[in-house]
Amino acid sequence: MSTKAPINESAKQPGLTGTKLFNFDLVIKHSTFCLSALFSLTAITIFFYLNSLASIQVRETAIKNAEVYLQTLAEFRALYTSEVVLNAKKHGIEITHDYKNKEGAIPLPATLSMMLGNRIGGSTNGVSSRLYSPYPFPWREDDNGLNDSFSRQAWQALTADPKRSFYRFEEYQGKISLRYARADIMQPSCVGCHNAHEDTPKNDWKIGDVRGVLEIITPIDTDIGSADTMIKHTLALLIAILVLALVGIRWVMGKLNLRSIEAKQLTEQGIEINNQLVSEVNYRKEAQQQLLEMSLTDGLTGVANRRKFDQELASEWRRAKRDGTQLSLIMLDVDEFKAYNDNYGHQSGDDVLCSLAAAMSGSAQRATDNFCRYGGEEFVLLIANSSSEEAQLMAEKLRVCVEQLALPHNYSNTSNLVTVSLGLATFKPADGHSGIDLLKAADVALYAAKDQGRNRFTIYQGH
Ligand code: GH3
Ligand code: MG
Ligand code: MG
Repeated sequence: MSTKAPINESAKQPGLTGTKLFNFDLVIKHSTFCLSALFSLTAITIFFYLNSLASIQVRETAIKNAEVYLQTLAEFRALYTSEVVLNAKKHGIEITHDYKNKEGAIPLPATLSMMLGNRIGGSTNGVSSRLYSPYPFPWREDDNGLNDSFSRQAWQALTADPKRSFYRFEEYQGKISLRYARADIMQPSCVGCHNAHEDTPKNDWKIGDVRGVLEIITPIDTDIGSADTMIKHTLALLIAILVLALVGIRWVMGKLNLRSIEAKQLTEQGIEINNQLVSEVNYRKEAQQQLLEMSLTDGLTGVANRRKFDQELASEWRRAKRDGTQLSLIMLDVDEFKAYNDNYGHQSGDDVLCSLAAAMSGSAQRATDNFCRYGGEEFVLLIANSSSEEAQLMAEKLRVCVEQLALPHNYSNTSNLVTVSLGLATFKPADGHSGIDLLKAADVALYAAKDQGRNRFTIYQGH
């Protein structure tokens, strides 16, 4: 009893689970559409990527610029304080925010720093700087206090952690801007003045205190606009390249498609020609086979002819010699056939030959029997691997078979029926003999049968 498990059809096809997941034929058929979709997706992705990249770049550049800007102002202020203000003080020069209205006075470090900042900023994209704190000098209360949400948050963040910067991108005076703030630390060269100044709002400053916030405001609208324009140009170029690529690919695919159709047609033609050639070759082989058979067949009786007999005799002789077996040959001849022809006519004689051939070949049907028309009214039967006794039985069988046909022959001196005489020889092939010798021996025996009265067989005795 079979215990085989039923085979799951889908399991026989790896990668297929009933339905096709992805139809590639459909993709190839609509290649233009698919490529367009793919290219559009690529262009959109690149656009968004560049956009975000540009935005990050603009912001990072603004931050770096602001840091440099702030650093420059801080350095200038420290330098001005140490190299100018302290010296000026020693020489009794007044240092005041109101220096323009006072003869021989010079500006405070903060005042000059702000002036420098605004001078530089004004010439570069509208960058401005501010210095503010919750303790402004009275003359600066309007602009230097914590007067908006950014300045308050900056003060809070920078007093909590003076080493870190505080910044934000937000709209400032109608423009998207970077507001970048850093703590303004009380320096040793400044603390004395600040605490001693008659208008100071706070007189307990210590070195290292966060005394204010230094802020740089950098509008980035222009940079964003420039980046946008650059991205738009890049995108336009990209789209143009993709469209060109699409047209090129479509053109190549069209050509390939044409070539593929031509190749397919050529292949079909090749197959057709090949089929024709194969059938032609087969036809010729059959014709050749028929010709070969015809060349080895007797045209009148349809049994093997003399040519075939010669081949069989030669090959059977070789085989018998090789195998050390006996080979028998019966040669037979129609008795008084001339008289038959003369009296019944040649056509009737042909009919008799046909009847005899059919009957005798039917009697000699073993695989080892080779029955042939030797010529005229003579036939031969070559019997491979047979003793003389077996050959004698066969000779008698043939003679009786002809007799039993009971073909009338009223002009024969032997019988009133058509009869045959047979000569029989059996050889064991040995060196110095050939198939021809066997043939001659059978012929000798045939003549003996004729001599002895016909309608009989005799055995060759001379061997
Ligand atoms: P024997 O008994 O001695 O053999 O006498 P026979 O008359 O048969 O011998 P003979 O050799 O004198 O005659 C042979 C005859 O066979 C002569 C020929 O007309 C006839 N014959 C040979 N081939 C054919 C053939 O293909 N068709 C016909 N109808 N007759 C043939
Ligand atoms: Mg004859
Ligand atoms: Mg004869």
